[in-house]
Amino acid sequence: MSGRVLVTGGAGYIGSHTAQQLIDAGNDVVILDNLSNGDRSMAPDGARFVQGDLADRGLLDDILGSGVDAVLHFAGSIVVPDSVADPLGYYRNNTLNTHGLLQACIERGVDRFIFSSTATVYGDPASTPLRETDPTQPISPYATSKLMSEWMLRDTAAAHGLRYVVLRYFNVAGADLKGRRGQASRNATHLIKLAVEVLTGQRDRLSIFGDDYPTSDGTGVRDYIHVTDLANAHVRTLDHLMAGGASEVMNCGYGKGSTVRQVIAALECVANRRIPTEVAPRRPGDVAELVADVSRIREVLGWRPEHDDLELIVRTALDWERKRIRAS
Ligand code: UDP
Repeated sequence: MSGRVLVTGGAGYIGSHTAQQLIDAGNDVVILDNLSNGDRSMAPDGARFVQGDLADRGLLDDILGSGVDAVLHFAGSIVVPDSVADPLGYYRNNTLNTHGLLQACIERGVDRFIFSSTATVYGDPASTPLRETDPTQPISPYATSKLMSEWMLRDTAAAHGLRYVVLRYFNVAGADLKGRRGQASRNATHLIKLAVEVLTGQRDRLSIFGDDYPTSDGTGVRDYIHVTDLANAHVRTLDHLMAGGASEVMNCGYGKGSTVRQVIAALECVANRRIPTEVAPRRPGDVAELVADVSRIREVLGWRPEHDDLELIVRTALDWERKRIRAS
């Protein structure tokens, strides 16, 4: 079922992959992005692109007043250490802007909302895999800013009849299988992005942040999900809301974990080269293991991943990085 949708942050990594799939599924897509971290060239051609800020209420009113059926809200700041250094900036950019966007939705009668949240709302969990009903214990301003937005959504939905889906992303990685887009973020902090920067000669070595965690090889375990599968989960979520489905909070991952060393080994295999590494102290705020229980999203959406393959994830990330370097 297609509709007219607003995609905030549609020039960013996950937003742009999703916008492409929404267009492919026949939706009419408007992208709003201030290009603070996004890249204009990532936004798909078939979308109407508006460069502007979420804090611009007049702009929001114009866009939402033009007959938007649903909002997919990706825009936000995502770097955990930055959020520790600048909590108020994160609460403004993530929480306050979501507040303004929700208010504009209510006033303009837009009553379907999909929100990008994060597995970091679970904090340092006692056990994994994590269910959506497990306790949330954010340990960074970033995670708190996202959880506050989740709560605003819940309460706004109860008061105003809005229906929403919160998608809690685990570790998103990889790039478009056709090579059209990938992770372009400047100053990335993510493992796979940094590892491909080493393989493409942009960095000398990769730090392994801690090898004394209580995991199979001592390094951190994460549930890596291919960005194409995550984008597809959004398209399915939109279908769910357009068909009258109820509000939901759902994990997005594959339900299985890989260690840092396993990720490095997969990349070395794909690249057929060693990645120079050094063991460094644990990174503040990191936890030993985050793996999703994905029964909810499977049950509600019937969603099944198509690219559940660590080598495919790292290969598409590496191919994209090589292409990006050649183009620059
Ligand atoms: N990590 C690492 N070296 C790096 C970046 C990350 O060892 O240069 C580890 C990190 O400690 C964690 C895992 O890789 O165990 C995933 O980290 P990432 O920053 O990609 O995602 P996060 O789980 O923090 O959102």
